[in-house]
Amino acid sequence: MNDRSPTDDSDGSNCALSGCEEPEWTRREFLSRTIRRSGAASAGLVLGAGGQPLHVASGPPARSPTIRKRVQLGRTGIEVPDISFGTFSLTTDEELVHLALDRGITHFDTAEGYTAGRAESALGRALRGRRHDVTLTSKYRAMPEHTVQHQMDVLERSLRRLGTDYIDIYLNHAVNDIARLQSEQWQAFIERAKREGKIRAAGISGHSGRLVECLDHALDQKLVDIVLVAYNFAQQPSFREKLTQHLKDFAASLDIVTTHPKLPETLTRAHAEGVGVMVMKTLKGARKNDMRFFEAQGRTFAQSALRFVLSDPAVDGLVISMKSPEMIDEYVEASGSGAPDLEDLALLARYESLVAGSYCQIGCDLCAEACPASVPIADTMRIRMYDRDYAIPEVAVREYASLTVDATACSACDGAPCARACPNGLAIASLNRDTHLRLT
Ligand code: SF4
Ligand code: SF4
Repeated sequence: MNDRSPTDDSDGSNCALSGCEEPEWTRREFLSRTIRRSGAASAGLVLGAGGQPLHVASGPPARSPTIRKRVQLGRTGIEVPDISFGTFSLTTDEELVHLALDRGITHFDTAEGYTAGRAESALGRALRGRRHDVTLTSKYRAMPEHTVQHQMDVLERSLRRLGTDYIDIYLNHAVNDIARLQSEQWQAFIERAKREGKIRAAGISGHSGRLVECLDHALDQKLVDIVLVAYNFAQQPSFREKLTQHLKDFAASLDIVTTHPKLPETLTRAHAEGVGVMVMKTLKGARKNDMRFFEAQGRTFAQSALRFVLSDPAVDGLVISMKSPEMIDEYVEASGSGAPDLEDLALLARYESLVAGSYCQIGCDLCAEACPASVPIADTMRIRMYDRDYAIPEVAVREYASLTVDATACSACDGAPCARACPNGLAIASLNRDTHLRLT
């Protein structure tokens, strides 16, 4: 269990971020108090103050963590753990799925395109004999030109790979265009697949520039039972509020650019209307190794980030890729662990300062029209993230090779057009050149 030291020692309640009377601390006071409270080696306490970070190995938890909270997904009647297993890079690691089951994870998120279908197959093999203990999400990029029969065929192939005759949640994958939602073929497919008992609930996933517009349309037209969207702590109004409240001078030094400022409001609406809200890409780039120096006492950056999004009343649960036993235990430890506290806030603030100027905001797309050579900058940055931060170079190489236009043109360009377009100040030209070299 994490060190969840209450801020108010008198009544033991975790007052830190839960809305009770809160002190306004300067950074010096904040560091001093949190260091004292958690034994000097507390997590995230060196907030860019100029000194070297404390480094205390967090070590494995003393016991195996298990899922402690289960949630209902809107009006669907589908119950899932607050933290679900993402199979984005799953290939043959069936034992990872078994370990996740042992830890109480009973919802698995996949897609027909993940690892070119191998993720669904591995999941199907791993869940043989356990299908009725779990729920599944799969996804497919249904385009307006895809007929109902084509979509049924794709679904049947997923069912075969997964070794089941129904999928609990079936999503139109990575939607960034209202035309894909307006498609009568897609709507008729959903109706037919539900009628035939091949899917229980339907919805969309998304993380790109027109995400909010697509979500609003889907809600207006009552097209979805579930949504799965990219969402992280830095997009949550509560993160900014708490940062300003407790780390005022530090907050002023950070220029947090929010993508989709209307997203929290839209998710709140979805939740209020009985649509299940699941989120992904919750680690804002997942530069976890860069944060290890600042973690201690069993609390990690990832756990703080997961706790923050799970504390959002609009969010039902999250999906996160799990690629090792250690990763499973680290993430599961955050399940049902309550509201984030000041030490979580400190770790996340540290992360913000770390990624400033180098993190491409998922869903930003402000540079979409900037490149005269039509380099898909946001896609190239996302693929770079798979390689550098997620440590799945094989996925990155495959995704990069599938781009219609790659970053070849960046090697002979001064980078001025894209630099002007990026509000985050990313050195796009040099990052793209490096990505191209690494992935080709
Ligand atoms: S460096 Fe030049 S070619 Fe590369 S993305 Fe920027 S504007 Fe386009
Ligand atoms: S490179 Fe900059 S402008 Fe382009 S999507 Fe990323 S953050 Fe937005």
